Amino acid sequence: MYNIAVIPGDGIGQEVVEATITVLDKLPIDFNYTYAQAGDKCNEEQGVPLPEETIKIAKEADAVLFGAAGETAADVIVRLRRELNTFVNLRPVKSMQPEKYGNIDFMIVRENTEDLYIGDEEETPEGAIARKKITKAASEKISEYAFKYAKDTGRSKVTAVHKANVLKLSDGLFKKTFYEVAEKYTDIETNDFYVDATAMYLITNPLDFEVIVTTNLYGDILSDEGAGLVGGLGMIPSANIGDENGLFEPVHGSAPDIAGQGIADPVATILSACMMLDYLGESSYARKIEEIIIDVIQEGTNVTPDLGGNASTQEMAEYIASKL
Ligand code: ATP
Repeated sequence: MYNIAVIPGDGIGQEVVEATITVLDKLPIDFNYTYAQAGDKCNEEQGVPLPEETIKIAKEADAVLFGAAGETAADVIVRLRRELNTFVNLRPVKSMQPEKYGNIDFMIVRENTEDLYIGDEEETPEGAIARKKITKAASEKISEYAFKYAKDTGRSKVTAVHKANVLKLSDGLFKKTFYEVAEKYTDIETNDFYVDATAMYLITNPLDFEVIVTTNLYGDILSDEGAGLVGGLGMIPSANIGDENGLFEPVHGSAPDIAGQGIADPVATILSACMMLDYLGESSYARKIEEIIIDVIQEGTNVTPDLGGNASTQEMAEYIASKL
């Protein structure tokens, strides 16, 4: 039995998490769900966006399934990642519709604990200053993770993304550390690009990428760009992994523009649950669900509007579950 902390959060987070549980419930695995609150609504009701009780439930669980947080995202998901010490954020950019988007398939390995996301901002007489933190230890840990991931999954190239020409000390350290770690992995090809160039190459040469390792902010931006390459934010899952905890969430946010309409694409969250199954050592079920999702999208009828159908979030999940 696995103890899963479930934090649906705000907006479509509620809908896509419910849909995902519908699919998980069809597996012959015993999940014990503990629901916990976080986000804008929680802030309104309890006066805090991330109650201590939620942090405790998340820390004690075998894994956390998270939906989305709206305006309070920085105080919820960024803090949860820190509290759980999930130092890596894995964001697979994989086309589920190769005939439409080509065979795009690369992994973004995003450093998850530092960079500008430490939130060290202050007002100054002229405006404001934000500090960017890059440490040798975190750069080493994330580079190691990326190379090991490449090796374990049969990928042959790792690309570091940075802006070391301008940010010579911080991004310079990240780049230097990446190449130091690379020395141990002689069978893996390495290269590095500036983040601005990468933004273009992802559009012009997306098939050249296998594993991208990068700092927190660039990873955040490039993964949304990656979503655009393979059919939108409704398709991209993510895994936050640490030495002791794993938190799984769609890359998209609470999408207030479509919340409550039952039209949100549940794929990103169901695929996040597949990453959770991998983390729990239940990979065979993860692959099975992924295959079903590809088939269902290809059939094109029981899918949400962003995928060309007119099924609701829950209807699409029930259809996927019915094929398990
Ligand atoms: P937040 O402030 O919570 O990040 P947002 O609207 O700024 O919300 P997203 O939630 O990531 O950011 O949404 C960006 C766009 O992508 C919106 O137009 C939204 O409707 C669309 N979108 C996001 N997730 C999905 C989904 N699962 N299915 C369909 N469309 C989605």
